[in-house]
Amino acid sequence: MKYKIKQGDKVDLNKWDPNEISEWSGDKKKAKEKLLELNKKLEQLQELLYAQHKHKILIILQAMDTGGKDGVVRAVFEGVNPSGVRVASFKVPTQDEIDHDYLWRIHKYTPGSGEIVIFNRSHYEDVLVVRVHQLVSKDVWEKRYEHINAFEKMLTDEGTLILKFFLHISNEEQKERLLERQTIPEKQWKFSNGDLNERKLWSEYQAAYEDALQKTSTDCSPWYVIPSNRNWYRNLMIATILVKALESLKMEYPKPIDGIEKIVIQ
Ligand code: ADP
Repeated sequence: MKYKIKQGDKVDLNKWDPNEISEWSGDKKKAKEKLLELNKKLEQLQELLYAQHKHKILIILQAMDTGGKDGVVRAVFEGVNPSGVRVASFKVPTQDEIDHDYLWRIHKYTPGSGEIVIFNRSHYEDVLVVRVHQLVSKDVWEKRYEHINAFEKMLTDEGTLILKFFLHISNEEQKERLLERQTIPEKQWKFSNGDLNERKLWSEYQAAYEDALQKTSTDCSPWYVIPSNRNWYRNLMIATILVKALESLKMEYPKPIDGIEKIVIQ
């Protein structure tokens, strides 16, 4: 898959076009039909995952503000049984969380066997917002890439499949989306002045993302840079990658109890 960052690859986000749609030859309408098909497959794969109770699936979503993390959760998991999927959203840490190491609050939300967990933001904030706003010093955050790789390696060694998605939008697209939030009544609740302050730090964030993507994309826990200016394409790509990854696990239903066919139900 061309959007996957291979371990050791250098990442220059300017070279990744957030508008491109080259992995889909049909139109937007066809893409929506295809997404419905993938939703259905995902529903079946989730049931199998739950029944087999072996693998754990962790999906990490990171993006600039307005990048579409919530949209992915809604569209990609449409129709999937909510009991098998959990979303963990990581906001500004509480005092108790700040008083601990930065992975402390993360670890307890990782998936158990048979579960899919979606991280809406994640421990990567600790090398993104924390770095951009200098909430800790450089000698503290620069060690974190190594910790993160070790943490994720441990999770994969223990049976977790990790897929990390960076939803890549352009600076102009973010402006459009903020304008929509400012002017469309149903979207105004999402508008915050904080987002405007963060927007001023666009290039600092892009640099922090480039570093994070290139230092933490590993064979066992890869990053995908998803062109995300078009929501339908973003959803389609993520659903495609997810279905493929789950299919590659070659999951099977557990064997039924011995002699099940002879049991007479009175
Ligand atoms: P979202 O933008 O994800 O929909 P919010 O608008 O509530 O949700 O934003 C969550 C905020 O929490 C973001 O500004 C993000 O940078 C911040 N945040 C998340 N994790 C951390 C962290 N470890 N340290 C500081 N801020 C964080």
